[in-house]
Amino acid sequence: MVSTTMETLSIRTENKFRTLITKQTYKKGEVICVMPSENIMDKPNRFTVQIAKDKHTHVGKLAALNHSCDPNVILDTENMLMIARRDIEKGEELSFFYPSTEWEMQAPFICLCGATNCIHVVAGARFLPLSTLETQYLSKHIREQMIDLLNNTKQHLKKIQGK
Ligand SMILES: [Zn+2]
Repeated sequence: MVSTTMETLSIRTENKFRTLITKQTYKKGEVICVMPSENIMDKPNRFTVQIAKDKHTHVGKLAALNHSCDPNVILDTENMLMIARRDIEKGEELSFFYPSTEWEMQAPFICLCGATNCIHVVAGARFLPLSTLETQYLSKHIREQMIDLLNNTKQHLKKIQGK
């Protein structure tokens, strides 16, 4: 059964910096919990997760999830589940790739995760090259917004070329 209580997760706070820690191990592909959805809004803020084109939700405890360019969980926003991206040890910090759900973030920041594939500027999927996005799990709404952007660019090019 999928846990909705998130009892296996705890928030650690150090110097006002919050991290989400798992109290148990998970196998790759395992569902960790249901994503809570509270307060759906049409604009993002630093605590929300984007779940559709103009839908951003508060996610309770999961707001403590930090970004990583080599994350250990994914947020499946279609089924509202948090899933292990690889095997996870007890006591590990959980993280996901913010641009996998966020098209344009309200509060961009510089990533210092140290991964070889680090994107450095975390501002949302629309600011990343396709070659980078291809290597990550992406939410359906992000894939759709990427296709919209490509189509608009094509139409714009046709216009300026007078076709
Ligand atoms: Zn990084």
